[in-house]
Amino acid sequence: MTSPAYGSTLPWAEPPWYTGRPSPYYKDSHRRLRDAVRKWCEEYIAPHTEEWVEAGAVPPSIYAECAKAGLLVPIAAGKTIPPQWAKYGIIGGISPEEWDGFHDFVLWDELIRGGSIASLFIGLTVGAPPLLKFASTQLQEKIFPEILSGEKRICLAVTEPSAGSDVRNLTTTAEKTADGKHYIVNGEKKWITNGMFSDYFMTAVRTGGEGAEGISMLLIPRSEGLRTRPVPVIAGPLSATTYVTFEDVKVPVEYLIGAEGRGFAQTMVNFNHERLWITFQALRGCRTAIHDAFQWALKREAFGKTLIEQPVVRYKFGNMGRQIDALQAWTEQIIYELENLSDADGARLLGGTTALLKVEGGLVCKYVAEECLKIMGGLGLTKTGQGARIEAFYRGVPSFVVPGGSEDVMIDLGVREALKLSRQAEKARAKI
Ligand SMILES: Cc1cc2nc3c(=O)[nH]c(=O)nc-3n(C[C@H](O)[C@H](O)[C@H](O)COP(=O)(O)OP(=O)(O)OC[C@H]3O[C@@H](n4cnc5c(N)ncnc54)[C@H](O)[C@@H]3O)c2cc1C
Repeated sequence: MTSPAYGSTLPWAEPPWYTGRPSPYYKDSHRRLRDAVRKWCEEYIAPHTEEWVEAGAVPPSIYAECAKAGLLVPIAAGKTIPPQWAKYGIIGGISPEEWDGFHDFVLWDELIRGGSIASLFIGLTVGAPPLLKFASTQLQEKIFPEILSGEKRICLAVTEPSAGSDVRNLTTTAEKTADGKHYIVNGEKKWITNGMFSDYFMTAVRTGGEGAEGISMLLIPRSEGLRTRPVPVIAGPLSATTYVTFEDVKVPVEYLIGAEGRGFAQTMVNFNHERLWITFQALRGCRTAIHDAFQWALKREAFGKTLIEQPVVRYKFGNMGRQIDALQAWTEQIIYELENLSDADGARLLGGTTALLKVEGGLVCKYVAEECLKIMGGLGLTKTGQGARIEAFYRGVPSFVVPGGSEDVMIDLGVREALKLSRQAEKARAKI
């Protein structure tokens, strides 16, 4: 039996399970979450989006509203919510026991549909996991109440002007003071999302010698010697992309995440969720664009008929639809696999696959953005009116392609990881 359609009834504008088709992945709690996030975004965000884009920032008071609504806990946690976080509230009344990777997907799908608000949380979703997975209990107990209540904000600072894809060669140093009580940090980080309004910087620093083994993760509070300035980027100012300078910044040694020398491995673990999460965003970006293009194609007339009556236009929609739904199916498969593997096995078996999924997300976005823009004609290049979301999506596509691991680097990683697993399987078989 099928259930009634939810949301838009236009083809591919919503994920297949919203249309009433059966799926093994989604239960009542996923539907509750979807309804709650959509309602919240429509009430608090949709009416203000244009005004915030115009002003170049989301007002800080909105962040407190997000905390009150129960958005910050799941955004910081990703696919598993610690039971002790229930006291901060979870949107839709979902319990930590119910929460899984598909809730994470639904949450981001709806937040991205909601518009400008999603860029407020990027720092939290990539900066909080190292604290949750690897930090001491004392540090977690100090920092999480501040960031889950919305009082303070966090971001992730790995990339430097001279080291992006090549994380192993980062140069920001953290040297211990003679009394062993502090690190003194010097260096620079670039393209740090949400840095302008962050209070904490989850930072990859060099505490040892050259290469990956010399890298550690240090939580650096905004303090004397830490300066931030905006870096204007293609997708606009709402994500507050930042250049960060550290000049003799003094950080207590208790702010080290895990042990010295573990920072590279911690960064790599963090990337797997980040890449999956970028694909969540890519998918909803495509669905929003195809929705707006369909609305237009059904009413715009050229050469005596509507655009949708032109076979060439239908061909474009068919090609977009098959790619979007294929990306959805692959994403769901990976979420399912991660749900059924330990964290360690998930990272070992799916690191390369997740990198390739992110590449696919970027490629589908490029295709969909270009086709939708052409369907809109001049409106697709116009920042206001019926083509505005497609114009913004087209401009934003590179944000799915470079951050979180650049396309070429990800393809290469995907192949190297696949070969590694193949050789391991061969060795294991030889032992039998
Ligand atoms: C809008 C935005 C937001 C960002 N947010 C954050 C953030 O919050 N925190 C953070 O730490 N970083 C952030 N970044 C940084 C981002 O992760 C890096 O820009 C990205 O990893 C690429 O690094 P790079 O810019 O130094 O490019 P490089 O490493 O210099 O690479 C440039 C190009 O060279 C090619 N290339 C390089 N190496 C290889 C290889 N081994 N194989 C094949 N091709 C290769 C690729 O085509 C690549 O795109 C952000 C970047 C942007 C633009």
